[in-house]
Amino acid sequence: MKIAILPGDGIGIEIIREARLVLNALGENFEMEEAPVGGAGFAAKGHPLPPETLQLAKDADAILFGAVGDFQYDALPRELRPEQAILGLRKHLALFANLRPAICYQELTAASSLKPEIVSGLDILIVRELNGDVYFGSPKGIRTATDGLFPGSREGFDTMRYSEPEVERIGRVAFATAQKRQKRVCSVDKSNVLETSQLWREVMTRLGKEYPDVELTHMYVDNAAMQLVRAPKAFDVVVTGNLFGDILSDEAAMLTGSIGMLPSASLDMNNKGLYEPSHGSAPDIAGKNLANPLATILSTAMMLRYSLNLPEQANRIEKAVQTVLTAGYRTVDIYTTGCIKVGTQEMGKAVLKALN
Ligand code: NAD
Repeated sequence: MKIAILPGDGIGIEIIREARLVLNALGENFEMEEAPVGGAGFAAKGHPLPPETLQLAKDADAILFGAVGDFQYDALPRELRPEQAILGLRKHLALFANLRPAICYQELTAASSLKPEIVSGLDILIVRELNGDVYFGSPKGIRTATDGLFPGSREGFDTMRYSEPEVERIGRVAFATAQKRQKRVCSVDKSNVLETSQLWREVMTRLGKEYPDVELTHMYVDNAAMQLVRAPKAFDVVVTGNLFGDILSDEAAMLTGSIGMLPSASLDMNNKGLYEPSHGSAPDIAGKNLANPLATILSTAMMLRYSLNLPEQANRIEKAVQTVLTAGYRTVDIYTTGCIKVGTQEMGKAVLKALN
């Protein structure tokens, strides 16, 4: 099993180091190869996604990604900015399904801005379509309006579009994932207003009949945004398009209190995937041994489960993370009085100890 390791920039380097140690400790025969990406890719090879890095990612069974971005690259033209590496990888590897769990550990409920009884024990999964929707639909641009309220003025326009097969393939990911969880899918759309959403709902309803063991419900996106903060535990799997998913997954992330705890996966048609923490490169704390490595360590668990077919090893890692939280270990982002404050490396070591 070949894993491409792309640490990237900022805290990416520190958190990936800890995740690698955890992978090494599992006793499996992983072949791990590292390559520069993002700002590090630009510095080493003149491009955020150097051809060698892309090739390594293509040849691998799974990709473990740290984070990219650094202020020193902010003045570069858009196509050379570190963040382009993620878009490039998604495009070249046809990663269309983004899985973002939002889990609120009992021990961390105080970190959430919601009341403990609302988030304690929360375990939801947002499945977001990544390749389509208004972000990529054409035509798009800025032009002079010939009609509408203000003809002759400049107007910006984008196109929301989804084909049936695009909806169907993300729907299948959601239903199959729900079968391994609480067997409930909530499909989120805006079908009272949007044609694209009407087709989305039609396809999801048809698909739902193929998964009789999974309960399918539909919800308008405005209501979903409200229900996520009112009663988030009512959800199991939420499936939605690119635009709505972008917003709802960040909202769900914040229910848990810390971005340093949230893993993510982006999968292709064959369950090959890119795994990364949901946070960025955090330049403000980079190199200070302050970053929480748990989101990245939990991303390796997702990688073992979804791409490498090693669910027992995934469970082992998740249990080890639970054990260190129960034991009171906390990095600064999740620290509360009375707990044991640790740095990135100490947290990694604690997980290794719990693993063994
Ligand atoms: P960020 O997620 O990097 O940081 C936001 C805040 O959360 C910061 O205060 C940071 O210190 C804290 N934080 C993030 N991860 C943490 C962790 N593991 N442990 C403890 N604290 C953590 O977002 P930002 O500051 O908006 O962006 C910084 C850079 O990251 C930018 O260049 C941005 O473009 C990039 N970015 C990259 C990705 C990615 O690689 N997938 C995602 C988002 C942002």
